Amino acid sequence: PRSISHLPYKRNSERRLQKVRDAQKFRSTLNRTASTESLINHDAKNDDQNNNDVSTNHHVVNGDANKTITSIVSMTSTISQSVRRMYHQKSLGYEGLDYDICENMLHLEEENNARRKGLGNHYLEFTRWLVIFFIGALTGLTACCILFIVEILTDYKYQKLMYLLNSSNPTSMIKPYITWLLTNGIPVFLGSWMVTYMAPVAAGSGIPVIKCYLNGVKVPEVVRVKTYFAKMIGVICSVVGGLACGKEGPMIHCGATIAAGISQAKSTTFNLNFEIGLSRFREDHEKRDFVSAGAAAGVAAAFGSPLGGVLFALEEGASFWNQQLVLRIFFCSLVSSFTLNSVVSVLNGERMGSPGLLNFGKFQDIDYSFYEIPLYAAMGVFGGITGALFNLFNMKLTILRQRWLDNRPMLRIAEAVIVSLLTASIGFALMNVWSECTPKTTEETHFPVTYGCPKGQHNVMAALWFNTPEATLKNLFHNKDGTWNVRTLTIFVITYFFISCVTYGLSISSGLFIPGLMLGATWGRLVGIGLSYIMPNETWIHSGKFALIGASASLGGIVRMTISLTVILIETTGNLSFGLPIMITVFTAKWVGDYFNEGIYDIHIGLSNVPFLGWQPPPDSSRIFASEVMHSPVTSLQVREKVRNIVNILSSTHYNGFPVVDENTIHQAVRTFGRYRGLILRSQLLVMLKARIFQEYSLDAAWKDLNSLFRNSYPRYPNLEQIMNELSTNELEMTMDLRPVMNPSAYTISHAASLNRIFRLFRALGLRHIVVLNDYNEVIGIVTRKDLAFYCTVRFAQH
Ligand code: ATP
Ligand code: MG
Repeated sequence: PRSISHLPYKRNSERRLQKVRDAQKFRSTLNRTASTESLINHDAKNDDQNNNDVSTNHHVVNGDANKTITSIVSMTSTISQSVRRMYHQKSLGYEGLDYDICENMLHLEEENNARRKGLGNHYLEFTRWLVIFFIGALTGLTACCILFIVEILTDYKYQKLMYLLNSSNPTSMIKPYITWLLTNGIPVFLGSWMVTYMAPVAAGSGIPVIKCYLNGVKVPEVVRVKTYFAKMIGVICSVVGGLACGKEGPMIHCGATIAAGISQAKSTTFNLNFEIGLSRFREDHEKRDFVSAGAAAGVAAAFGSPLGGVLFALEEGASFWNQQLVLRIFFCSLVSSFTLNSVVSVLNGERMGSPGLLNFGKFQDIDYSFYEIPLYAAMGVFGGITGALFNLFNMKLTILRQRWLDNRPMLRIAEAVIVSLLTASIGFALMNVWSECTPKTTEETHFPVTYGCPKGQHNVMAALWFNTPEATLKNLFHNKDGTWNVRTLTIFVITYFFISCVTYGLSISSGLFIPGLMLGATWGRLVGIGLSYIMPNETWIHSGKFALIGASASLGGIVRMTISLTVILIETTGNLSFGLPIMITVFTAKWVGDYFNEGIYDIHIGLSNVPFLGWQPPPDSSRIFASEVMHSPVTSLQVREKVRNIVNILSSTHYNGFPVVDENTIHQAVRTFGRYRGLILRSQLLVMLKARIFQEYSLDAAWKDLNSLFRNSYPRYPNLEQIMNELSTNELEMTMDLRPVMNPSAYTISHAASLNRIFRLFRALGLRHIVVLNDYNEVIGIVTRKDLAFYCTVRFAQH
């Protein structure tokens, strides 16, 4: 069978167009017939009140018509059912999050109680701000930890290596080479081992998984405490191990895990549950708000860019957005950046001046004229093309990795170690083969290696490899013209392109921002050098300026972030007036890159089969109706249901949501499933069963605790098998009233709604389920976000 993961990337435009036309034709036939009264219109045949309508609604009663409808429905099914099943199978590990607030009776009671106590929402709001403060502060402190440990270890490593290299000559290079291999291989082994065995979700930059989380998909273990440790220690190991990666991306994931940990005040990893009055935040939508603040704080600490953090949360995650939330996210970012700044300045004995892990240094003398802008746009085009190439190679590599290395942890670790050894070996080989020497005075590198050079000079290639990537990047931006020569830079940029491409996707915690910027800064500098060669007397050509534009273009072409990336670059360079050229470059790179493929994060999301909803509904979606997308028949529950029935339904299905309908309104024969009253989740039913909220028992005491019971069980709910063993035969015959717990105002949609409309509801409100109703408020189908994601990715990619 065709692998689903490849489908979104099949881009044979001609074939696609033809398929779209065929699909349109098919759909219009389908819609014309299937959206007739068929499944949808109220069928009055069994409706005693509407007996007189029987003749007009004859489709379902009439045998032939019924057959037609069934065959059409099965036609839709055959087209999509197998692929749909495969899609569900592949995305089984990812459940939906419910960002809709369940305004049930318990919720109202809780609100009333708070009001009666005179606390209203003020107490809750105050607690939120307090939690936000701690999230910001802890994220800043984490960044400090990473910064200092990386600095101390890399200083030690490169000092030692520099000493070894400077005291040896090209004929006795074994010792420094072996030392380099060991100092790369050992940390990477440790980091990779931690990530692979402790928290595989901590691999990579973490941005894709946080994007998924904010989009409404629960990626297992994504915000667990153990993930935080694996991420933090892992990134230290990767950077110290000399891999082509940065420590900035993982900060975003670290911030998100900190946010989840603090706001939930519990940890599954350590089996801790603090009763400190934060249980109100144990809901998907509250947790999501904190996680977005944490991610923003991560950006702020990583780049010293609080505004960039806010915009990152907006651009990459949020479908939800309100003024209060923006304020909180901004506050969190500022606290995080301030904490980092204060600790770094106190420890370094300086005035406050390092708001982030990454600091490009100030580009004071940077200016431009309007006639340079086309040149920047052209560099954006180049960045877009190279970014698309980078993404393409990385995608192919990821597919290979999924095929050969998934579920083989030892191989994944070995792969990471081999790449780290290769990185050292390539650096070492280049230093030997293409060594060029420049006088020491023009170089500002921390570790000048005189290896193979006459006295007073140093090896230029070594200056590129012998540093943390951040320091090299800063050098590329600020070193004087003439520091770097064309040949060294060209060789470096080509090798670094492939090394960083291979590095992203290893089972290690690693960021992509720095490699992306490095590549661009290198070819940007080459552009600068080329221009000053062609026009030697022009004063506006500074190679540092072109390095910055190149860096923006390259990163924009890879990650395809626009607003947040521009603001991050403006804030890290401290130069607002250069904002417009950066913006033009980043936007051009994105547009050009988007012509060829998606951004790297979206590619990785697509390859892991996450049911992710993009920003826009699929093309042609206004011609597809709810009836085509929905799942039918629906398993519904009555407002008062026998415990036995509930247990049976829960054990025989895997559905996570059930429409609740009026008693005695279910008509199996006409495929309508009762008059709609609300929606109840599997998790709510499990908690109710566990707490024995049965009508036959006195429930006064149980009601009081029910809310806290729901909160304490979040997000790991009771086990059905265990509940079934505990229930007595007598209890199975009892009744459960679902009304106080179900969501009475869960979103529903009419059968006539288009896919476009459903998509917008899901995307804007972060829904998990939507119930499809007919004209008479009867349940005829259900759509989940996964069903929708299936339509948006697989179904449309197929055509
Ligand atoms: P998630 O599990 O993340 O909530 P999902 O799409 O897997 O998303 P499930 O509740 O597991 O949702 O249901 C699986 C499939 O069954 C979906 O295609 C959905 O449309 C359908 N479905 C969900 N609830 C019901 C129900 N009560 N009756 C009939 N079909 C349902
Ligand atoms: Mg499911």
